Amino acid sequence: MATDAAGMAAKRAARKAAGLCTECESPRLEGHSVCQRHFDMRRQRIEEYNQKRRARKLCYCGSPVKPGRDRCPACLAIEGRRQTRRLMEHREAGLCLICGRRPPRRRKATCAVCGRKQAASYLATKERRLRKVKARARRGQLLRILAPSD
Ligand SMILES: [Zn+2]
Ligand SMILES: [Zn+2]
Ligand SMILES: [Zn+2]
Repeated sequence: MATDAAGMAAKRAARKAAGLCTECESPRLEGHSVCQRHFDMRRQRIEEYNQKRRARKLCYCGSPVKPGRDRCPACLAIEGRRQTRRLMEHREAGLCLICGRRPPRRRKATCAVCGRKQAASYLATKERRLRKVKARARRGQLLRILAPSD
């Protein structure tokens, strides 16, 4: 019986090629490598882990979170920098802030596709972030005007 690692790997590869779940013989879920049951199991495990993590007030990285947030100060800083840079790039290119691929809808920060995809609260967060980015950019411009020698 092929219970060794190589055998398992071969079995997984064969299932993958046949379009089956990599964990069992069920048909694969569209766009995933596993079936509905294994997808749910996986999601539940992640959800349980996240609940435990939140209960212990830990960041994804395992550090204690910043009070009132679900990330630690270090991760928030990294993510903030990355997000700001990305948003600025998209904004300057005149593209949807989220995907950066399509033009945004009139008077909106996002394109129609992303707009549909985003839940209202999530979108609100992004737009709040954009306002912050805009405010920061305005402050930067103001500083340059006030200090032209800089
Ligand atoms: Zn499965
Ligand atoms: Zn962290
Ligand atoms: Zn978009």
